[in-house]
Amino acid sequence: MDEFIKLLNPAYELIQYHIKENKVIFHIASTIKELECPFCGSKTSKVHSVYQREIQDLPMQGEKVILLVDTRKMRCMNPNCSHKTFSEKHPFAAARSKKTDRLIQNILYTSSQLSSLNASKLLKSENISVCKSSICNLLKKNVVHCG
Ligand SMILES: [Zn+2]
Repeated sequence: MDEFIKLLNPAYELIQYHIKENKVIFHIASTIKELECPFCGSKTSKVHSVYQREIQDLPMQGEKVILLVDTRKMRCMNPNCSHKTFSEKHPFAAARSKKTDRLIQNILYTSSQLSSLNASKLLKSENISVCKSSICNLLKKNVVHCG
């Protein structure tokens, strides 16, 4: 199972996984110790706190996949920095996204072939939860006509 996570990003490791109500849940974390402050660019390894983000990923053998991603709030040690803390960014998902980039690519591909209602139905049958309106929003963001 660790290989599945390494395919997502080689810097991440699997802490544990379990299957619950037809969902496969992977608890993962980055192995990179030092993170760069997005405000001043200085590196820090001081962890302020850790929270978990729930991010939906591509289904595995028809099962819905949820990544439970340890997300660190880091303390910036640069006294001249405008920010004291910053949140860790994950290379496979946008800042507040509930879905991985590769899942969004998959949704966009399916939706570009079908109407958003039919795409939503098809994706649901593949255990990808996405409603018609969020398909429309994704298509708009990616400048595709929404039908
Ligand atoms: Zn900083």
